[in-house]
Amino acid sequence: MRAMNDTLTMPIPGHIDPVPVPRPAVVREDGRIDLLGLGRESLREALAAAGLEAKQAKLRAKQLWHWIYNRGVTDFTLMTDIAKAQHPWFAQHFVVSRPEVVEAQVSADGTRKWLLRSPDAQDYEMVFIPDADRGTLCVSSQVGCTLNCTFCHTGTMRLVRNLTAGEIVGQVMLARDSLGEWPSQPEGRMLTNIVMMGMGEPLYNFENVRDALKLVMDGDGLALSKRRITLSTSGVVPMMARAGEEIGVNLAVSLHAVTKEVRDEIVPLNRKYGIEELLAACAAYPGANNARRITFEYVMLKDKNDSDAEAHELVRLIRKYRLPAKVNLIPFNPWPGSEYECSTPERVRAFSNIVFESGISAPVRTPRGRDIDAACGQLKTASEKKSRAEMDRLAAEKQAAIG
Ligand code: SAH
Ligand code: SF4
Repeated sequence: MRAMNDTLTMPIPGHIDPVPVPRPAVVREDGRIDLLGLGRESLREALAAAGLEAKQAKLRAKQLWHWIYNRGVTDFTLMTDIAKAQHPWFAQHFVVSRPEVVEAQVSADGTRKWLLRSPDAQDYEMVFIPDADRGTLCVSSQVGCTLNCTFCHTGTMRLVRNLTAGEIVGQVMLARDSLGEWPSQPEGRMLTNIVMMGMGEPLYNFENVRDALKLVMDGDGLALSKRRITLSTSGVVPMMARAGEEIGVNLAVSLHAVTKEVRDEIVPLNRKYGIEELLAACAAYPGANNARRITFEYVMLKDKNDSDAEAHELVRLIRKYRLPAKVNLIPFNPWPGSEYECSTPERVRAFSNIVFESGISAPVRTPRGRDIDAACGQLKTASEKKSRAEMDRLAAEKQAAIG
C-alpha cells in the first residue's frame, strides 16, 4: 500500500518552526521509493536509508536534485554524472514519477485540461491557460474540497484526500514535460505563472503545498519566481500568516460577498472566520504592499452579491483596513445543477466601475476553457467518491492480493 505523505512537523501558533523535519519517503507497491516531491534533505536521507554511505548519499542527492528538478529527467540512465555502474542500483530502489494522465482536453480558446490519477486511484485536474504574454498553470491542492461553497462544483465533491507534495509539484513538472520546457531556463518559457486555484483549499493542505512550492521556487530547481505564483484561499484565517512567512507567494482571497448574511451562505467557512477577521489577516499578510497587492476574488452572482450598494461596501471595507488591493471580478461559471446565474454584463460593468472609480483596479476575468469545463469552479472529476473506510478496506484487499 502507498503510505500517505504525512508530515511530522507540528505547527506552533505564532511562530515558524525553525527545524525542518524531513518527510517520510513514499513507498510504492513495487517497494521502490518515489523521489518526486522530496526536498534536498529527504533525498539524502532516502539514499542513505537505501544503503549509500554518508558522503556518497550527500553527493548523489545533490546530483539527483539537479537532474530531477532542473532538468526534468526521470530516467537514471540519463544522469551522466552518476557512474554507469550505479544506474541499476538506483533503478532498483527508486523511481522519479509523474502523475498518470487519464485524459487531456483542449478548449477552442487553447486552454488545456488534464485529468490525472494517483496510484491509489484518486482523480484530480490541472489546467493550462495560454495568453499572449504569459502561460498560467492552475494547480490542484486536494482531491475535492471540504468547504462546500455553494457556487463551486468542486465543493460538491466529498473530499477524498490531500494531494502529496509530489503530486502537487508533479503537476508543474508534467506541464513542463508537455510544453518541452526542460531544463529550467529564465527566458522564453510558455509556463510563466502558477495559481493554486485548482481543486481544493490550499491552506487546508498547508505543509504539502508549502513543500511543493518551495521546489517550484528554488532557483536551482524549477526556478519560478514567487512573484509569479499566487495562492488562493477561501479564508482560512489561522494559516494566512504562516503562508506569508513560510511560502511568501502572492495572496488571493475569495471574498465574494461583503455582508455576513450573504457570505455565510455562499462561502460557509465565513461562519467560522468572518469578514472582518479575514480582512484583518489580509492587512497583516507579510509582504503585501502596493507593489504586491492582495487580490480579492469576487464571483458575480445575479441578484445575490452584485448590487451598487455591495460594490460601495467593498470599497469601504478595503479602505477601512488600508489594504493594498485589487479586485478580480469573476463571471460565474455555471455547472450542471448549479443554482445561480451570472450577473448581466451591464451589472458586472457597473460594479467594476464603482470599484475602479474609487482608485482600486477591478478587472473582469475572462472565462477560459468553459467548453471543456476547465473554467474557475467547474473542476469536478467523475470518479466515484469513496469514504476513508472504503479506501482503507480496498487498500487492504489489494495488499492481501499482492501478498
Ligand atoms: N479553494 C480556493 C482556491 C480554488 S477556487 C479558493 O476558494 O480560493 C479558485 C477561484 O474560483 C475562487 O475564487 C473560487 O471562489 C472561484 N470559483 C469557484 N466556483 C466558481 C464558479 N462556478 N464560477 C466562478 N468562479 C468560481
Ligand atoms: Fe473549495 Fe474553493 Fe470551491 Fe470553496 S471555492 S468549495 S474553498 S475549491
